[in-house]
Amino acid sequence: MTITEAVWNDAVAAIDAAAHPVLACHLGPDGDALGSMVALALGLATRGRKVTASWSEPYGVPRQYEFLPGLDLLSPPSDVPAEPEVMITFDAGSLERLGTLEPNARAAGKLIVVDHHRSNDHFGHINLIDPDAAASAVLVHELLGRMGIPLDQQIAQNLYAGLVTDTGRFQYSNTTPRVMQIAADLISHDIDHPKIARIVYDTHPIGYLRLLSIALSRIEMIPGPSTETSMVWTWIDNDDVKTAGIGMDDTEALIDVVRVAEEAEVACVLKETPDGRFKVSMRAKGAADVGAICEALGGGGHALAAGFTADGSDPRAIALDIAARLKA
Ligand code: AMP
Ligand code: MN
Ligand code: MN
Repeated sequence: MTITEAVWNDAVAAIDAAAHPVLACHLGPDGDALGSMVALALGLATRGRKVTASWSEPYGVPRQYEFLPGLDLLSPPSDVPAEPEVMITFDAGSLERLGTLEPNARAAGKLIVVDHHRSNDHFGHINLIDPDAAASAVLVHELLGRMGIPLDQQIAQNLYAGLVTDTGRFQYSNTTPRVMQIAADLISHDIDHPKIARIVYDTHPIGYLRLLSIALSRIEMIPGPSTETSMVWTWIDNDDVKTAGIGMDDTEALIDVVRVAEEAEVACVLKETPDGRFKVSMRAKGAADVGAICEALGGGGHALAAGFTADGSDPRAIALDIAARLKA
């Protein structure tokens, strides 16, 4: 599904006409959400435009993205106007993913949605949504081109962070020739791409290693009749991250360790939320559609990477319920 010329033109015209565009990405931003949004904020700033860019409470830049240029353009969600004239959302598959900024988006005069989730319900007035795009950063790359805003090194770094995050360092099946062409374009702007990959993926406080040892000591398999229906899983709670001396936002990479188990198609990590529920992260290798499972359970995502928040407080019961859906 591609975005029509008419929709691209509408988006460009609406953004061009906005005196004060408001930008918002999904809550608990990852490299794609943050990189896509900051790239457009930087691009608009080169045109001398006043922008407000933010996301839901709890607001704070995750440690691994603190190096990105342009973060000075961000401000807390309390700075977002209650009724923005034009609001652009990034990497959010639904209004709920905007968290405390959902009311602002609902009240926006014109809501432009930049996203690549298959589950996206087209909640904007103008929807730049392409489920075949590897990352929202791919769409922002095109949007900047269509707006006639040239890339610079700072914009390129942000788009690269988005691309590297959502393609798993150019390893997942969404790494198309187009992705590599865009990456080549970004690298041609003299960005330190090994440093970006290293900081995003391979740099953690030592407490992360302590947390890994706790999480890996709890690894379990829920075997199915075949590898395709088998799930490897583990869980961590708020006490674990306290013991390890890190924040829950420093556990994004845990799922990538768990998913290496060759006996299972599906990997699952449950992380306790501040209110005692569990945030579930799921990954598949190609044979299972974890996006469909997570959508059915109130979340969303992509076929091979998805998540939801489970109401229960017993991680094993939650895992067994998920695994049963895998077999169905
Ligand atoms: P994560 O496991 O948190 O890295 O999330 C993997 C993918 O699932 C991301 O691309 C998110 O867009 C999506 N996702 C995660 N949690 C949710 C949720 N609660 N609701 C909708 N989508 C989610
Ligand atoms: Mn995201
Ligand atoms: Mn994304």
